[in-house]
Amino acid sequence: MIRRQTCPVCRKKLEGGAESETFPFCSERCRRIDYFRWSDGKYAIVDPLSPEDLSEIDESEFDRE
Ligand SMILES: [Zn+2]
Repeated sequence: MIRRQTCPVCRKKLEGGAESETFPFCSERCRRIDYFRWSDGKYAIVDPLSPEDLSEIDESEFDRE
């Protein structure tokens, strides 16, 4: 089993590794993005995000580098 060292959502390096609360994501934000990708609106029990919203979040993550 391979341990990811980068966030599967935004590709940013993980600082906390497997001990991070948000592993395997870099942040709670990316964990939610991945959740919405999988739910795809079928189980939208939380405020839904449009594809446009998701791309905006990805860009802001990169800007923080
Ligand atoms: Zn991320």
